[in-house]
Amino acid sequence: MSSVNSNSVGRSPSLKEDGLAQLSRSAENAKRIKNVQDKFVNSQNLQKEGRALVGEGILMKVCRKKPKQRAFFLFNDILVYGRVVISGRRYSQQKIIPLNEIQIGAPIDSAENPYAWLISSPKKSFIVRANSDRERQEWLTHLDRCIRYASGGANTQNNAVAAHWIPDDKADTCMHCRTSKFSAYNRKHHCRNCGLVVCDGCSKKRFLISHLDAKPVRVCDSCYAKLNNNDSNDARLNQRDRPADSSDSDGDENPQYSPIPATFYQNVENL
Ligand SMILES: [Zn+2]
Ligand SMILES: [Zn+2]
Repeated sequence: MSSVNSNSVGRSPSLKEDGLAQLSRSAENAKRIKNVQDKFVNSQNLQKEGRALVGEGILMKVCRKKPKQRAFFLFNDILVYGRVVISGRRYSQQKIIPLNEIQIGAPIDSAENPYAWLISSPKKSFIVRANSDRERQEWLTHLDRCIRYASGGANTQNNAVAAHWIPDDKADTCMHCRTSKFSAYNRKHHCRNCGLVVCDGCSKKRFLISHLDAKPVRVCDSCYAKLNNNDSNDARLNQRDRPADSSDSDGDENPQYSPIPATFYQNVENL
């Protein structure tokens, strides 16, 4: 990694503004990033000029079938996560979301998902759960700061994001027609537009939702009508019966949650 400016660091005029840039130039930061990369099976190259690893920790990711333990790494420009193979040592199935595409939802504190919040992005949106209120607060503070840093102050709240998929176990019957009972023969599907669990009969239609996929995706009849109203482009209709229900296939279960506290490399209060 070459840094043209590394000799001109000196006194930063505004420590507050420059905190993340400063962190990105530190030797510890370079080591930590290399370390994360080395622990991932088939990692992308995470080393990049100007990039800072701000924090890392284990969060429960609420998935289609059940919550799964995932290792999360917050950088000043991307959020990286993956499956935990060996706690603290080995990760796989690396996913990377640019921070300027991410929206953070309000805290969720339901009985089954305490200390949770929604992370939305164009391709995928999901709920994650921290160990404690305090840990969640730390994540939210750092996420907010890094998202603002990565988007250069632009408001990301209007970006198109994916619907959060309602977990399968939340529905015994179709959430659209409310009559079709799910079974081994009557499979559950997800409307890509609203995220509801619906039966095949209620989701025969396909619609092109460009931020999700280059191909038209499964939508429920209500959403199809709504989307078609918004955009009466007939070419988008595609009746091919191709269930693409693989969007949550990011790994196997690791049932028990190791309560390793998250680590952040900057103390926000001091910045
Ligand atoms: Zn139905
Ligand atoms: Zn829908």
